[in-house]
Formats: sequence, C-alpha cells, structure tokens
Amino acid sequence: MQTLTTINQIQNWAKKIKSQSKTTALVPTMGGIHGGHLALVSRAQEVADVVVVSIFINTAQFGKNEDFAAYPRNIAEDSRILANVSVDVIFTPSEREIYPLAQGFKIQAPSIANKYCGASRPVFFHGISLAVLKLLNIIRPNYALFGQKDWQQLHIVKLLARDFFLPTKIIDVPTARENDGVAMSTRNQYLDNKQRKEASLLYQTLVFAKGQIEQKEDIASTKKEALSRLGAVFVVDYFETIDETTLLAVNKPTNNMRIIAGVYLGKIRLIDNIKVDYV
Ligand code: AMP
Repeated sequence: MQTLTTINQIQNWAKKIKSQSKTTALVPTMGGIHGGHLALVSRAQEVADVVVVSIFINTAQFGKNEDFAAYPRNIAEDSRILANVSVDVIFTPSEREIYPLAQGFKIQAPSIANKYCGASRPVFFHGISLAVLKLLNIIRPNYALFGQKDWQQLHIVKLLARDFFLPTKIIDVPTARENDGVAMSTRNQYLDNKQRKEASLLYQTLVFAKGQIEQKEDIASTKKEALSRLGAVFVVDYFETIDETTLLAVNKPTNNMRIIAGVYLGKIRLIDNIKVDYV
C-alpha cells in the first residue's frame, strides 16, 4: 500500500492506473477507520480494480463549536488497518493542499442541506460538498463510495455529482452495525461504557418506529412515542419520516419511506436511519 500526500503524487498515480486501463474507486473518509469504512472498502474492491482511501479531516464542514480539534487522528493505526485489507493507496493531503490560502470559491448546497443535520450544523453540507468536489476532481475516480449511515450526506453528494456533471458514479453501501445495532462511527470512541450501552436505544427506537409504521400504525402517534422513548436517554435533534429520494418529510406512508434521526448523548452527536418497508 502506498501513502500519497500531494495532489501531484496522486494525479501521477491516477494517470498511471488509467494508462493500464484499470478502474479506480475512491472511499473518502476522515480517518478513525472502523468497520463501516471497511464495508465501503470491500464494496469498492468488488467494483473497481484499484481502491484509494482518502483520509482528510475537512475543516470546512465543522462549525466553530464542533469537535474539529478533538476529532480522532491516528494515521499510523488507520494505515495498518487499511493495509491489512489490501487497500492500494491512502491519500492523506494536508489542509493547505486541499485549501490553499489564495482560494476563495465556496459551494452552496441546495436547500435540503439546511434541514435535519444541516439545521444544527449550518456549514456542514456546504463544507462536505466543497471537499468532495475537490477530491473527485483531483482523483477523477470511476466510482466513489458513501455510506447509507449518513443518508442526507449521501443524498447531497448524489446531487453534487449530478449538478456538476461529474463523471464519477456514486455508490452507496448499507450501514455496518455493532452487535447491539449501534451504527459504527468514529465518534463512538468518545462514548464511555455507560453511554455506549445507552447508544443502542437510537437503533432500537428506529426499529420500533419502522415496525409500527409497517403494521399501519399512525405515523404521528408513532413519532410521538419514539420521541418519548428517545427522550429518556438523549436530547433529540430531529426524528423524521421522509421520502428517501427527496428527503422531504412525509406524514403518510409511501413506498420510499425512511426514518432519519439525530440525537445528542451528552456532547456526542449520533445519527442513524432505517428504511421502512411499507407495502
Ligand atoms: P467519515 O469518516 O465518518 O466521514 O465516513 C466516511 C464514509 O464512511 C462516509 O461515506 C460514511 O457514510 C461512511 N460510514 C461511516 N460509518 C459507516 C457505517 N457504520 N456503515 C457504513 N458506512 C459508514
């Protein structure tokens, strides 16, 4: 496995791969590699000849009072894990490589970026879009893989690729979970033992609400009960039934329904979502 840090290096590498008529998949991450990232790597290895994992903690997506400074950084451990699963290249650019001082363009993501996670994190999806656009333009992979765990992010990245006519195909991968259902996440490292146990209530409540709606229970009363269950442990940021293709809230069952939720456990933010198989 090679570790490349500059745009020049990764572009020379990508040129070489293209000249060999091989396809490339990019898995963008912020490091703190866990089983969720590895699910993306594994799918990437199925679809493409070579796989690049980028590790870039993107300042542009963190608000002033968020956890940029505290975000886990351990390139040595991440490299060890990724080498173990035969990733071809890790791309770990510096902040100045991606955001040279002289540059001023920003991306304004569509209004859906201001709902749900975006309502409490106003710069979040605009910052993600900027970094993803840059990474896709630098590497020009055939495929880029994103997790369903971050459903709103996945949706916005698909819009980004569509609106800017990016040649990269966006592939989504189901959420990897711990045994108790908790979605794997780099931020789970922040949870103490008690919080780690409590965290499973988020997935349990999503499963409960999915079951109720699939059994034709009323959506409004299901939401009310779910909020009351979540409130026992978390401060709820949002809990919404949405059309998964538009992300707009729906109050009547549809074939494309998904439940998305964001909660705080102490200072730690957890998000998750689940598909409702309503027929
Ligand atoms: P992050 O490093 O948290 O920015 O995540 C990088 C990528 O991994 C994103 O596309 C996430 O959606 C994806 N991801 C994170 N956690 C999971 C998970 N538990 N299952 C599947 N994909 C995940």
